[in-house]
Amino acid sequence: MAAFAGLKIYNTRTRKLEVFRPLTGNRVFMFVCGPTVYDYSHVGHARVFVFFDTVAKWLRKLGYSVFYIVNITDVDDKIVNRAADEGTHPLELARRFESAFLEDMASLNVTAPNLYARASDYLKEIFEQIKGLISKGYAYVTPTGVYFDITKFGDYGKLSRRKPEELRVHRIEPDSNKRNPGDFALWRVRPRTEFGWESPWGYGRPGWHIEDTAITIRHFGPQYDIHGGAVELIFPHHEAEVAQAEAYTGVKPFVNYWVHVGLLTVDGVKMSKSLGNYVTVRDALSRYSANALRIFILQNHYRKPVDFSWELLDSAAKAASKVEVAHQRLMQLERVDEGVGDELAASAERVWEGFAEAMNNDFNTPVALSHLYDLASSINDFTNKHLKISAKAFDRVRKVFEGMAEVMGLTFQAPGAGDVEEFIKLLVDVRSELRARKVWDLADMIRERLKELGVELQDSGKETRWVIRR
Ligand SMILES: [Zn+2]
Repeated sequence: MAAFAGLKIYNTRTRKLEVFRPLTGNRVFMFVCGPTVYDYSHVGHARVFVFFDTVAKWLRKLGYSVFYIVNITDVDDKIVNRAADEGTHPLELARRFESAFLEDMASLNVTAPNLYARASDYLKEIFEQIKGLISKGYAYVTPTGVYFDITKFGDYGKLSRRKPEELRVHRIEPDSNKRNPGDFALWRVRPRTEFGWESPWGYGRPGWHIEDTAITIRHFGPQYDIHGGAVELIFPHHEAEVAQAEAYTGVKPFVNYWVHVGLLTVDGVKMSKSLGNYVTVRDALSRYSANALRIFILQNHYRKPVDFSWELLDSAAKAASKVEVAHQRLMQLERVDEGVGDELAASAERVWEGFAEAMNNDFNTPVALSHLYDLASSINDFTNKHLKISAKAFDRVRKVFEGMAEVMGLTFQAPGAGDVEEFIKLLVDVRSELRARKVWDLADMIRERLKELGVELQDSGKETRWVIRR
């Protein structure tokens, strides 16, 4: 499987499909807006993290060396408020839901991020950037906080394609100390009874947008390749990041490729905590496998909105099962020196080309999945006709099939994994029955074959105990 050049990405910055070229050789720096950890993640969040997990896995398949960061917003009003309701410390609450988030990611086989970066670990960079923006005249200090003056940054609005004069009057974060209704906070002064830090501008907490630039400028420098997130973050969050970073460093563009994932809706309305129309990742995974949930997410193009329903998860589960069964049947074929399978291997390699072409076309995961299903069908047809395959053909087919599954983040359990003891018990029971019927040769055969597998049986009277020796 050769690496394929020619990856194209739809770039929100230019509103165009563009050939992807990293800034530095084959190194790719990617950052995706992570969760605010005050509650459990829902399927809408999962859509973003599963998609970018597949993006990073595909970039690595293409031979890029990817440094992928997801931030953890552990400083936020929502966290402070909920912690107050519960009577716990905000950081304690944040750590609890951060753990839950990381568990959910592990359950979803989201394994691509190199670093989960906590906002609270970047106060030093946040202070440096705020100081820099004040000294350069982009930010101003008030008794209630430090604000970014959007009229000082001529490019404000270029990412979201909104007119500067509209943005100036577009009211966010109401505060009568602000120069313009559209200015956003870099630092917010809070009462000392609340969780916060001392700063040159008073006790308080950082604004939300500055945490992302604090993290990325520390790890990636003033410019990097891919910034991802949900589509609703383009304004004001990502617009504000561009303004902060470009004003602070003077390097443009701050981010080369902006990639945005469409909404996950329920009956056409955005799935969200505040609306209460959400299904947590945990709930979904208590009913469906991670493979099913990933297929549900990836069977839609990332830029399109997806409407959640349990029926769609049902059909995704059927698709997942088809892939899983094909994998099991492939693995159960007997590998022989000489034999059939060349045709299947050749068709697998054609499937891989189609898969790669789809992934290179702006991460077209629904088409990529259809190639995976095609190979699953071919494997099932093959195993209906054959019990053996040439070892060489087997290796070729397996490499393609598992390669595609790996990019999609689908995992395969070895048959019986986790239930080994149940299988041993079954064989021991059958053997006891054979002994009772005095079928000694078969009983001995079971004992010998199990011994070869490292399972030793110990008979005492009619009872049989066993130990696994590995
Ligand atoms: Zn963010």
